[in-house]
Amino acid sequence: MKLLDGKEVSAKLKEDIKREAAELTEKLGRKPHLVAILVGHDGGSETYVASKMRNCEQVGFDSTNLHYEDDITEEALLAKIAEINADDEIDGLIVQLPLPKHIDPEKVTEAIDYRKDVDGFHPINLGRMQRNLPSFIPATPYGIMLMLDHYKLDISGKKAVVVGRSNIVGSPMSILLARNSNPGNCTVTLTHSRTQNLKEEVLQADVVVAAIGRKNFVTADMVKEGAIVIDVGINRETSTETKSGYKLYGDVDFNEVSKKASWITPVPGGVGLMTIIGLLKNTLEAAKGTVYPK
Ligand code: NDP
Repeated sequence: MKLLDGKEVSAKLKEDIKREAAELTEKLGRKPHLVAILVGHDGGSETYVASKMRNCEQVGFDSTNLHYEDDITEEALLAKIAEINADDEIDGLIVQLPLPKHIDPEKVTEAIDYRKDVDGFHPINLGRMQRNLPSFIPATPYGIMLMLDHYKLDISGKKAVVVGRSNIVGSPMSILLARNSNPGNCTVTLTHSRTQNLKEEVLQADVVVAAIGRKNFVTADMVKEGAIVIDVGINRETSTETKSGYKLYGDVDFNEVSKKASWITPVPGGVGLMTIIGLLKNTLEAAKGTVYPK
């Protein structure tokens, strides 16, 4: 078994992004700028946004965290998004999900100018991605593709099984793996909670992507000998063993599955770090105007 080491790959790619950001700053006379909107006080969301902002600073981007109380109206939020859309000095805008119940996430997603949609959730970006046109690609699947590319794993023609069909991970992941591109060209099965005989489906996979949200869901008896296993899951449990007071578990039973896999991502230290890279790369591309010329 070899480790798909998110720490090593993300550190290398971060250096590349930092170098490019410095060159771009020189050219534009300002830094690439990402704005994140956070509504309410969900512990996970606050941690994720803080980490995104910190990573922006580390590579030389400007970052702004607009934090609103959860009683902000949908109208006020949409007005703020329109204001940011019109600001030429802001390159990327993300709205951290989940949102409070009285705000429609679809409306918010579509309100973001697709040219600033560095989360890649806008239907225009999703459609362009599906057609293999330049677009912003959702950060987690993008990060996974960058990792596969880094290790030059030959997945062309192989069978990939994605477990989980969310808009942000499973579904875009299945599109990317099936696209006629490198990495890509897999024969993809997208599975979910209604899938019959899930174990038999996963057992056929040369590449397994687990994005379910259930600790140790993928067990060794579900995985073929020699498979490449990508674990997206982040399952938090309180723990007295760590300083932070919690411990993270993936969707894959790492201890057992790693005995059968040819390559596997750890949790933590795998996909989570690559997700940040996906977001940073999208923001850099937004500032450069490479996806959508300015
Ligand atoms: P969602 O809850 O949006 O989606 C989970 C998916 O898993 C759904 O499609 C659901 O099926 C499917 N599922 C649930 N139970 C089963 C089951 N028993 N058998 C088969 N499929 C099942 O989650 P996300 O995609 O947002 O996230 C998945 C995990 O990845 C979470 O742990 C999350 O924290 C983590 N994550 C990690 C990131 C990272 O950077 N590493 C980034 C984003 C998420 P159905 O559609 O039928 O309900």
